[in-house]
Amino acid sequence: MITKKIYLYFPKSETEKPIVCQLIRNFDLTINIFRAKVTPEEEGYLSLEITGTQEHIDQAYEFLSEFDVIIQNKGIHWDSDRCTHCGNCIVHCPTGALHFSDRTTRTVMFNEEKCIECLSCITNCPFGVCSSAF
Ligand code: SF4
Ligand code: SF4
Repeated sequence: MITKKIYLYFPKSETEKPIVCQLIRNFDLTINIFRAKVTPEEEGYLSLEITGTQEHIDQAYEFLSEFDVIIQNKGIHWDSDRCTHCGNCIVHCPTGALHFSDRTTRTVMFNEEKCIECLSCITNCPFGVCSSAF
């Protein structure tokens, strides 16, 4: 079994289709939804963690390609070039995704695998270093 994080964009034409339901039913995937949003224009965004066999995940990606759904690889973006390493986000990050990689130099690093998309770093970074795809 493997676990992958994916970010899906649904144009208006796809938002009412039971695509996620079919992913679970047809490919035996366990899906953990971190975040979902529907815009006033009825476009949809989903941030998911999917767990299943590699074969089933490959089949699920193939299934998604039958729709106008766009798969994005990134949710939270941490701009390492603009980070001042002030550390303010670290106390607000519940999972340690943002952490000091070296306590002596206080160098901040971002581990995307640990990120649960809570958006706390966006609210708490005084320099706007963190942003979200949606
Ligand atoms: S979105 Fe939440 S979990 Fe992810 S890095 Fe920011 S504070 Fe940490
Ligand atoms: S709060 Fe912003 S500038 Fe400070 S360490 Fe975190 S990401 Fe970098």
